[in-house]
Amino acid sequence: MKILLIEDDEVLADGLTHTLSASGYTVTGTTSGAYAEHLLQAQDFDLIILDLGLPDMDGLQLLRKLRAQKLPLPIMILTARDDMNTRIEGIREGADDYMTKPFELGELEARLQALVRRCYGGFSNTIEIGRLLLDTRNHQIKANGQFLSLSARESAVLEVLLIQANKVVSKDRIAQRLSSAGDALADNAIEVYIHRVRKRIEPYDVEIRTVRGLGYLLESKPHE
Ligand code: CA
Repeated sequence: MKILLIEDDEVLADGLTHTLSASGYTVTGTTSGAYAEHLLQAQDFDLIILDLGLPDMDGLQLLRKLRAQKLPLPIMILTARDDMNTRIEGIREGADDYMTKPFELGELEARLQALVRRCYGGFSNTIEIGRLLLDTRNHQIKANGQFLSLSARESAVLEVLLIQANKVVSKDRIAQRLSSAGDALADNAIEVYIHRVRKRIEPYDVEIRTVRGLGYLLESKPHE
């Protein structure tokens, strides 16, 4: 899961980045609304954490803009403004949840997890396709009830495809997921990982389809 954290309080941003990274999220931080827009155009994220009091713009204004552009990502608002009107306005403008500062990191994390479940995995902690099962809480993938042994990168590729099962995942999205897992990628690296994962999951009634020019799509295939 890739989070865009838009927060100008450095101490809070550091704390959040640390906690969320330890829980397996990849966090990209920025203190500026304008830069956040730039990042959103350049990269794919799974979730946004948005502070309302930003130095260069009102967070609500940014929220309005993102929803007007039909950005489909779940957005969690963070704010020191605890008045009811701002809270209602945030939700009305398209925020999915709201936390008022100060808050417990543990609560924020639980709420983020709930958001991820609502948006990407129905109401369950698991995503099941064919005979594969992903536990979104700990990123573990099982096949036929047994842990599927994969390298960290193979596992990252499969996870991103499972989370968006039956939808096309762009090569860029996979590349981002992989580059956040370590060093730079060779040109054909994605094809190599897809090839390995494809062979690995073949026995479990799922397949990875190549959608030419767009990316890859994981779907179940009928049992033979
Ligand atoms: Ca602020």
